[in-house]
Amino acid sequence: MTKTASISVLNAADQAAAVYQSQEALLDVSGVTVQYSNGRQLVTATYRVDFSIKSSDRFVLLGPSGCGKSTLLKAVGGYLQPTEGEIRLRGKTVTRPGPDRMMVFQEFDQLLPWKSVLDNVMFPLVETGKLAGRAARDKAMQYIEKVNLARVADSYPHTLSGGMKQRVAIARGMAMEPDILLMDEPFAALDALTRRQMQDELLQLWADTRFTVLFVTHSIAEAIKIGNRILLLSPHPGEVVAELNSPSPDMHEPGWQTRLEQKINSMLFANEEITEKAHG
Ligand code: ADP
Ligand code: MG
Repeated sequence: MTKTASISVLNAADQAAAVYQSQEALLDVSGVTVQYSNGRQLVTATYRVDFSIKSSDRFVLLGPSGCGKSTLLKAVGGYLQPTEGEIRLRGKTVTRPGPDRMMVFQEFDQLLPWKSVLDNVMFPLVETGKLAGRAARDKAMQYIEKVNLARVADSYPHTLSGGMKQRVAIARGMAMEPDILLMDEPFAALDALTRRQMQDELLQLWADTRFTVLFVTHSIAEAIKIGNRILLLSPHPGEVVAELNSPSPDMHEPGWQTRLEQKINSMLFANEEITEKAHG
């Protein structure tokens, strides 16, 4: 490669980074603490968490079980209110659930068992009044095709495998074309091979549509594979340890995944020592 060519490649990457930096945040989470009241006891699930997500981010919340990942996702979904802090979507404070934030859960039973695949995917479109009749059907089919389930569009959930059920849930969320798709460990209950396949499919879907996703996982490998940005949370109560940016695909150097994994492991380990010292 000539010198000029390599400079122009760098400039393109710098330009892309500058455009990204100048983008307004789509979702702003600032100083969010969530507490649950358990009878007389108060449980602090997350403590003063800050992060912001830009359009087309694949933003991952990574942390051990019980660190408040689901709690944060539910707060963004508007299902529970922060005790302290604020969540804003496009500048507007989130106070309740809305069709601009669709959820995909870990459980296979999130579909309506008495409705076909097509009717499950159409349901929120029709129920929210977003689309009706033929338009709703076409939109639903468009996303059912995207997750490669056209041949089972008329089947019922109990006839599908776990992976297929999760594909339906993803299609249902995406068909609403929400501002942000919220995914709570959507592949955690799948076998290892299906899980890997679903991760690849999700990335392919993202390459097609560039949707914005907030993805929760406790798997370091999954976080690295899915996320362009990873927010590392400490054990209970969840506080931000660090935010890590995974390099963009055109900047990947051999071994970057292993290096990032080591970095995350050392941060979690360092954090554990701090926690042990504090309590020991
Ligand atoms: P994660 O998804 O990271 O595993 P959660 O958000 O589910 O963590 O839970 C964070 C903490 O909040 C845990 O200690 C959990 O026991 C507690 N918690 C979660 N939901 C409730 C609830 N409804 N009532 C009381 N405590 C809860
Ligand atoms: Mg959880």
